[in-house]
Amino acid sequence: MQIETLIKDCEKELSAQFAAREEIAYKNQVKVMEAFRKNKIALRHFVGTSGYGYGDEGRDTLNALFADIFGAEAALVSPNIVSGTHALTIALFGLLQSGDTLFSVSGDPYDTLREVISGKGIGSLADYGIAFKKCDLKGGKFDFEAIRQGLKDPTVKVVFIQRSRGYEWRDALSQKQIREACEFVRSCGFQGCIFTDNCYGEFVEDTEPTENGVDVAVGSLIKNAGGGIAPTGGYVVGKKEYIDRIAGRLTAPSIGAEVGSYAYGYQYFYEGVFMAPHVVCQALKGGLLIGACLEKLGFETSPSVTAMPCDITRAIRFNSAKELIGFIQAVQEASPVDSFVTLEPWDMPGYREQVIMAAGTFVQGASIELSADAPIKEPYIAYFQGGLTYEHCKYALTRILRKLCG
Ligand SMILES: *Cc1c(COP(=O)(O)O)cnc(C)c1O
Repeated sequence: MQIETLIKDCEKELSAQFAAREEIAYKNQVKVMEAFRKNKIALRHFVGTSGYGYGDEGRDTLNALFADIFGAEAALVSPNIVSGTHALTIALFGLLQSGDTLFSVSGDPYDTLREVISGKGIGSLADYGIAFKKCDLKGGKFDFEAIRQGLKDPTVKVVFIQRSRGYEWRDALSQKQIREACEFVRSCGFQGCIFTDNCYGEFVEDTEPTENGVDVAVGSLIKNAGGGIAPTGGYVVGKKEYIDRIAGRLTAPSIGAEVGSYAYGYQYFYEGVFMAPHVVCQALKGGLLIGACLEKLGFETSPSVTAMPCDITRAIRFNSAKELIGFIQAVQEASPVDSFVTLEPWDMPGYREQVIMAAGTFVQGASIELSADAPIKEPYIAYFQGGLTYEHCKYALTRILRKLCG
């Protein structure tokens, strides 16, 4: 079949899915706009500051804006948070003390948190006497009986939920599932903090975890919430008492969120979150189109293109290392930055198998931009996400199809 025909057919079949994505984007844009109006965002909020940053109105107002967007009491949004892992780390260290237990109810947390939680002799939570335990999802759903058992332990102070699928062959958790889990956890008498790793999930549905019973949610600005425009940064949103404690970890317990300056100014953070609902919608539609075309060619994708996506990541199972590598190379060749680079698998530190990664992005490593990666092992699964514009995803798809069919 002609590549153009295949793409056109898939676009037609996806029209209801696309309309649903656009409706959610509109609801989120309304939410973001109401927060901009309420906080009376003005040009003066964008100016750079220096030194301690006492009375930095751009910073304080950005915090208030994020709190409103996420339906939370308070927020910490900062270029001084260097990544999602850093945001998650300061949040967990702010919430937990020696003798406490962190209880994950969605299985293993994301790879980069493993050492943060249980590393030896590197200042991990374990090194500070904070225990970790988990219960796995059962067929992609919360295992309520295991959660009930786990909560009998009075040292559990933080219940941890990862919204995104991360890099696993399972669906992300929906807001409905998260709301039910929060209600269940409370019905067990839990009085501590319900915590969500919100990475890859922001603006995918029309509510956020903090509107569904979660006390603290954490994410990166080089993913969804930065809208492809924020140059760096992370955020933590939630109950004020928790955010105050976490602010004491970001800076120091005596100064919290009262200090912190940014000489370049805050325009890109405001503009990024303003763009985010639309950009996330573009990435989701692009991911659906790529998924649908590859399903038509006989490849298995996760989530299936008929399911409602609950995060921006998508996985595709290929038949051979050659196909897998071809896919990742095509994504790189279709990137606006470093399109001329021919990718090869390499021995990346921390991985057992060779890894290949496409990230021809404006903001280094930004995974709200079209990006893909895969370990070279069976089953041959590529994970991809992002795309700032639907048209870019479609362009990349033409190159992917040429590589796979040619
Ligand atoms: C990306 C991601 C992280 C880590 O964020 P970095 O910005 O890469 O440090 C944590 N959890 C999930 C689910 C993620 O997708």
